[in-house]
Amino acid sequence: MKKIEHIGIAVKSLEESNILFSKLFGKPHYKVEEVENEGVKTSFFEVGGQKIELLEATKETSPIAKFIEKKGEGIHHIAFDVDDIESEVKRLKEEGFVVLNELPKKGADNKLIIFLHPKTTNGVLIELCQEMINKK
Ligand code: ZN
Repeated sequence: MKKIEHIGIAVKSLEESNILFSKLFGKPHYKVEEVENEGVKTSFFEVGGQKIELLEATKETSPIAKFIEKKGEGIHHIAFDVDDIESEVKRLKEEGFVVLNELPKKGADNKLIIFLHPKTTNGVLIELCQEMINKK
């Protein structure tokens, strides 16, 4: 793993939280992106070279809707940048970690992503993300 790529925060209302976090950081979000297959709408803030991702559920079956129902709003996941997601997942599985999705899926921000099950990571949902090569 290379570095923290972003921290994901689950929110009830992206619109309201965009205003709140703009006040907190002193600058607005730089993009909004919907990830349909995940049932989320995201916005991104940049703070000192670090990214913060806000996530709002777009449907009841969204993992974000379930998370908020169970735990309320708050930090949802920490994402780490990797060069080669498949070899990193292979390594982590050999170490005993459990993945939530076997195959990398398309996430926000032009990334291939895989989540590790929080029961194997002290309750912290870990996202691995690899930059996709084919940029639009
Ligand atoms: Zn994320």
